[in-house]
Amino acid sequence: MKNPDKHGHFGAFGGKYVPETLMVPLEELEVAFKGAMKSAAFKKEFTALLTDYAGRPTNLYLAKRLSAHLKTLKVYCKREDLLHTGAHKINNTLGQVLLAKKMGKTRIIAETGAGQHGVATATAAALMGLPCDVYMGEEDIHRQALNVDRMRLMGAKVIPVTSGSKTLKDAMNEAIRDWVTNVSNTFYCIGSVAGPHPYPLMVREFQAIIGKEARKQFLKAEGKLPNYLVACVGGGSNAMGLFYPFVKDKKVKIIGVEAAGHGVHSQFHAAPMAAKQIGVLHGSKSYLMQTRDGQVKIAHSIAAGLDYPGVGPEHSYFNVTGRAQYVSVTDKEAIKGLKLMSELEGVIPAVETAHAVYYLEKLAKKVKKKSTVILCFSGRGDKDMGQIKEYI
Ligand SMILES: *Cc1c(COP(=O)(O)O)cnc(C)c1O
Repeated sequence: MKNPDKHGHFGAFGGKYVPETLMVPLEELEVAFKGAMKSAAFKKEFTALLTDYAGRPTNLYLAKRLSAHLKTLKVYCKREDLLHTGAHKINNTLGQVLLAKKMGKTRIIAETGAGQHGVATATAAALMGLPCDVYMGEEDIHRQALNVDRMRLMGAKVIPVTSGSKTLKDAMNEAIRDWVTNVSNTFYCIGSVAGPHPYPLMVREFQAIIGKEARKQFLKAEGKLPNYLVACVGGGSNAMGLFYPFVKDKKVKIIGVEAAGHGVHSQFHAAPMAAKQIGVLHGSKSYLMQTRDGQVKIAHSIAAGLDYPGVGPEHSYFNVTGRAQYVSVTDKEAIKGLKLMSELEGVIPAVETAHAVYYLEKLAKKVKKKSTVILCFSGRGDKDMGQIKEYI
């Protein structure tokens, strides 16, 4: 079976749960995206942006002191933190904004929580000369002032959202409302492998460069495939980017790390797969944190980028089929992972990435014989310094 199928389903997940007025624009987007994927000219331009502008290919680097510390694991880091803007998100926004231009759209909109996707979208829009409006909850605007300043400096308009909890999910609602109203000239840039079809497919394809490069680099270094892949999962785009090119390599074990916040049995976490409920958010069906009435719960994680109550439909599918395993790491453990990587390797990871780093400690205790791992090093930690100092 091909995933997703022609209606955008990954098994029971995914789909297009949107207002009827968006069905035609989503179909138009799908046709444009599939055309772009077949177009040598599009691929050439996209590749040029990834290499000349963003800084690809990124290094696959053997973390020797971390590996010595873990004893049973030989860890290679796929260094997405070295990209322009400091994280993997730029891979996707360059792809989507380029596609918007090809479709003749004259305006970009996005929603953002912590502001990382907003910054990556504003960056791509500035580069390609398109106006950009970013919806952001009023609460988040106060919490993430630096990213708001970055977006504004690059010419984007940050629109405060004052409805509901004034956070990411309310910003998403407003962005969708804007898109419904202005769909003829506006392109909606979604930041993870979430949202209605074709977004999970499209974002996967734009991020898959991570895994394609890593697979080649690893084969060159070790002469075989890795035993494990490990990545943190918010919506799941850095993880899917690494995982997807290895999905058919059945011997490669795939592990996604959700954010357990204060613990998955507390009210404060961001681990929908651990919570085991299924629902519809942002136009697609997936694991979703919700109340007994089906209202979407507010997620909590120390990592703003993982602070999302849903997860991509393809991860949901991998979870039920067993192709990938999903585990979780708490706020406290993530800080330990962050210190470990900083002290042993001289690389400060984003607090999101630190969740995946800490999981290696747990994995190292489980493996029976010496094993190899590719860790998706999704971003750098500079953005988190203020918060980490406060926490420690
Ligand atoms: C946004 C972000 C994430 C989480 O998003 P995914 O779509 O799950 O990849 C992880 N790491 C960093 C550095 C981020 O900025």
